[in-house]
Amino acid sequence: MAHEHDVIVVGAGGSGLTSALYAANQGVNVAVVSKLYPTRSHTGAAQGGIGAALGNVEEDHWEWHMFDTIKGGDYLTDQDAAELFCKEVIDAVIELEHMGLPFDRLPSGKIAQRRFGGHTKEFGKAAVHRAAHAADRTGHMILQTLYQQCVKEGITFYNEYHVTDLILEGGVAQGLVAYELASGELHTFKAKAIVVASGGYGRAWKTTSNAYTLTGDMQAILYRKGIPLEDMEFYQFHPTGLFPLGILLTEGARGEGGILRNGSGERFMERYAPTIKDLAPRDMVARAMYMEVREGKGVGPRKDYVLLDLTHLPPETIHNKLPDIAEFAQIYLGVDPTKQPVPVMPTAHYAMGGIPTTVNGEVVTDGNNTVVKGLYAAGEVACVSLHGANRLGTNSLGDLVVFGRRAGVAAAKFAKDAEFYDFTSEVLGPSRERIEKILNAQGGPSVADMRAELQQTMQDRASVFRVESLLQEQTEVLKELFDKYEKVVVQDRGTKYNTELVEAIELGYLLEVSEATVHSCLNRRESRGAHAREDYPERNDKEWLKHTLVYKCPNRAVKFAYKEVVLGKFEPKARTY
Ligand SMILES: Cc1cc2nc3c(=O)[nH]c(=O)nc-3n(C[C@H](O)[C@H](O)[C@H](O)COP(=O)(O)OP(=O)(O)OC[C@H]3O[C@@H](n4cnc5c(N)ncnc54)[C@H](O)[C@@H]3O)c2cc1C
Repeated sequence: MAHEHDVIVVGAGGSGLTSALYAANQGVNVAVVSKLYPTRSHTGAAQGGIGAALGNVEEDHWEWHMFDTIKGGDYLTDQDAAELFCKEVIDAVIELEHMGLPFDRLPSGKIAQRRFGGHTKEFGKAAVHRAAHAADRTGHMILQTLYQQCVKEGITFYNEYHVTDLILEGGVAQGLVAYELASGELHTFKAKAIVVASGGYGRAWKTTSNAYTLTGDMQAILYRKGIPLEDMEFYQFHPTGLFPLGILLTEGARGEGGILRNGSGERFMERYAPTIKDLAPRDMVARAMYMEVREGKGVGPRKDYVLLDLTHLPPETIHNKLPDIAEFAQIYLGVDPTKQPVPVMPTAHYAMGGIPTTVNGEVVTDGNNTVVKGLYAAGEVACVSLHGANRLGTNSLGDLVVFGRRAGVAAAKFAKDAEFYDFTSEVLGPSRERIEKILNAQGGPSVADMRAELQQTMQDRASVFRVESLLQEQTEVLKELFDKYEKVVVQDRGTKYNTELVEAIELGYLLEVSEATVHSCLNRRESRGAHAREDYPERNDKEWLKHTLVYKCPNRAVKFAYKEVVLGKFEPKARTY
């Protein structure tokens, strides 16, 4: 079947729904194509909050937020993006409130705010209350609110349609191909402008906070087409994953007063970040936890985890402000956090890197910001770069609404002056071949086995700490996995709801984004933000204060180019907290 819309958004998470809403407000015809039912998108799992300098609990300013974002990003953050973000996110939060989002409130009736990692007052003096939240279900509320608004606007939704290809001819985005899960049919979509808002790729690792569906689909599809990926070496591990499962316990728990303790009960973050302690940025806390464990100061029979202690908080704080994570600890570990500390270790969480864009969401292909006509990206799939080398907690939900809006408006304006391109159903060819190859394969490895091997090897060789020899080994492992993938088999050969086939396709995407990540890790010979090289432990601004662009080349090779960091009023300085 063939479809046509002025603007098509791929993805129905917070960024996709915001883009769709703002594009529709410009008076163009908008559709959203999503492999999930919209409210099942990962944005709905976001817990802790959305950061904005509202100043409701105490004095706050967008300049302080901007400084924190840049310092948190270890000075790789583009300062133009950070400035407009910290200004615009204030209005964006108020706008969400006006759309009906039920934020927690102060007795005065204003939106309540709590502390979060790396967010400070007066340029680093102490932690500040900046995160607006709805208990620990903030993302759920954002997603529901935005979806209701989209339905009200009459936006067309193609749910459970899995995009398998993007039509890109002569530097112009023209449309999409998608596989309909219910029927097994392939569809073509013509669009004057496309917004890619398809989320992250945490499923490349074994221990992750991410949903099963976060497999880097659109990053991989564009990477295969010659579009570079930016800063893929910067992948964030969130400190407090429930041990050993990786399910997230929000940083809001430490924002409400939670403390990390090692095997001797010591509050070890006092040694690593004397000023803001447990509320240091995630990269520092994750490393500190691993250091404690390596030095034999962990907890448990193997001393391989640390504890998140909430037992000193009033039980009503936990029940009112952190109800979901209290339930997770109880269900998965049988631990009641009001009475016992909770075992935690870092979990793969967030991609700072992704599809390179301008501040208006336009996708670019090189260090000179050459734009792909009609192609936009926003949210975790994109790299503007607001988060630099390490994202601060609560800045992703803000990113979705600020840059989702910018991308949606820019796409709609572009579409108003553009024409549909003429293409035929021939564009379905490559997707059809890929699907038939998987459905007809015999005797090869299963999707589940291959995925487990990928996730374990990425966990062992490309997680919180990195070193040349292991990364090099991982590039060889990935080559072997690509070879094996040629023969991957599925047991379900049917056409209706063939989720195994979809998982096989997604595994191919995970291999691509893992390749881009590991090569980018190997290439950057310094330590900055979330990229900690044991063989190059120092930050090296002279050679490496630049963004990486990785391009896919034939024969499983890659090449690199670079993009300047947009500097500004905050000069790169040593990073202490
Ligand atoms: C457990 C957890 C808690 C978090 N808590 C916070 C928090 O408190 N504060 C904060 O700022 N950030 C938080 N984050 C991070 C933040 O939630 C995510 O970065 C953000 O929600 C990503 O939104 P998105 O719109 O980019 O993508 P998602 O919400 O992941 O949505 C992706 C969409 O793309 C669609 N899609 C993907 N591939 C395809 C395809 N091939 N074809 C069609 N559709 C496709 C999916 O159907 C989905 O609708 C958290 C993340 C996790 C995992």
